[in-house]
Amino acid sequence: MSSEELHCTIHPDRTTLLRCGKCERPFCIDCLVQTPVGLRCRECANIRRLPIYEVSVARLAWVTLVGLVAAVLGGILFFGVVGAFSLWLSPLYGLGIGEVIRWTANRKRGPNLQLAAGFCIVVGAILGKYGLALLSLLAAGSDRLGLVAEAAGRDIWLMLFVVIAVVAGISRVR
Ligand SMILES: [Zn+2]
Ligand SMILES: [Zn+2]
Repeated sequence: MSSEELHCTIHPDRTTLLRCGKCERPFCIDCLVQTPVGLRCRECANIRRLPIYEVSVARLAWVTLVGLVAAVLGGILFFGVVGAFSLWLSPLYGLGIGEVIRWTANRKRGPNLQLAAGFCIVVGAILGKYGLALLSLLAAGSDRLGLVAEAAGRDIWLMLFVVIAVVAGISRVR
């Protein structure tokens, strides 16, 4: 191994003995990352990944939060305003939430985002339809919250709504 002095490609003022294992350009230790196939510069390390499916945990949490707010507000709007027609419009609800998730995630896709979309739609639809009833019971200090859960559990229309909306929503981030 030669000990000739090299200079980092990104920091020409730093000397180094290391090279990227792929492009073989010299880099300092700060510019190299350890990968399963050895040291790589950041450029070469990133090419291996499929960036469209890569979502950080922080980003996923943010996406889920935004999706949840949109889903609950949208759910209240659908069940409170659209009411009886909401089942016919359930794909629209799902697509809307899916689209919010996709844009918040910088138009990425993948299983994590599908899960986030499904979660937001299920919670949003249930809270949209029964959230206000729950809140008023809570505000009244009632101990009959179980009644709302029971009503939601027997609500075939809500289940249909959720299933159609989830299928539509997930298709946006698949
Ligand atoms: Zn490289
Ligand atoms: Zn460097």
